[in-house]
Amino acid sequence: MRELGLLFMLAAALGSQVSFAQESPPSPKQPSALAGTDSPEALREHVPVLPAVKAKYWNIDPAVGYGMKDFGNGVYALSDNGWQSAFLVTDAGVIVFDAPASYGKHIPDAVAKVTNKPITMLVYSHLHKDHIGGSAAFKNIPGLQIIALDTVSDFLKEMKDPNRLIPTVTFNSAKTIKLGGKTVELTRHNYHSNEGDLFIYLPEAKFLMAVDSVTSGYVPFQDFDLSTNFHQYLRMFDEILAYKFDNFIGGHLTDTGTQKDVEITKEYTNDVYQTVKRIHNGLNERAFDAEIAKTIGPDNEFLIFKALLDKVTRDSVAELEPRWVNRLAGVDVWLPSHVRTALVYVRWDDKE
Ligand SMILES: [Zn+2]
Repeated sequence: MRELGLLFMLAAALGSQVSFAQESPPSPKQPSALAGTDSPEALREHVPVLPAVKAKYWNIDPAVGYGMKDFGNGVYALSDNGWQSAFLVTDAGVIVFDAPASYGKHIPDAVAKVTNKPITMLVYSHLHKDHIGGSAAFKNIPGLQIIALDTVSDFLKEMKDPNRLIPTVTFNSAKTIKLGGKTVELTRHNYHSNEGDLFIYLPEAKFLMAVDSVTSGYVPFQDFDLSTNFHQYLRMFDEILAYKFDNFIGGHLTDTGTQKDVEITKEYTNDVYQTVKRIHNGLNERAFDAEIAKTIGPDNEFLIFKALLDKVTRDSVAELEPRWVNRLAGVDVWLPSHVRTALVYVRWDDKE
């Protein structure tokens, strides 16, 4: 309801400005919304990547463009220290999971290094370009099945992106693939992209792939990995931990992970959420708004509201950063965006 009142106030304020239309409007000063981190001074302020995380970077030959790790039972993970994917070798062919835009074209070569079996299936974890935008390299593989959620397929059919091949096999919620003595369990989740995300579980190898969920050693990417559904993102950790797995890939950066990596990111995410909720719900908004109005008057409701959101964000970051800056890499880079994502959820979706 506050938002409605705000709109009325805004309309009134705009209406009252009409009578002053003859006066030239004040020109804005340096736009504060554009303050960035791309100056050398601002960049030097940031915390270097934690040494424990740096020690786990994969050693990648730039001439090859990717590295490969063997997880046993036919499972191999690929990475270029920016993106990660995987493939499964079976007696009846190879199943590839994602084809990142950055090194997807090298995947057929990577597969050929460890087996002479043909690639028979390509599974999309979700539709984002960075994870499947290298799939065009697979377009001449005869009889290739491309497997994805039906919603992902609908989007790709509409998009007609030549870099993302259209799926040939779709499903709505879950699908088990049995091929050459191996099993792949695909399950729909909704923690990241609008059209759905897959958990990809390889039970014989106890290997789980859940792309854009957890980035081992680091906090999640901006806005909790660009999640369009923070409610589902909060639930995602227990959904991951319900699987029996020894190794995990989240699709990004420098190393694969284990249950421990999922648990620490769960702890971080819950800490952000609970801290933001306590600070937001503990604030006396009426008193705060009145205090701001003493400086700018009551008319600019957008500015008053932004000041409130900024205060909750600032106080939350100030409390959370010391707790986490030495436990996960990238805290000072993305914590403010995580706080803002949690704040939107707390204020508009959550119960008090
Ligand atoms: Zn994504």
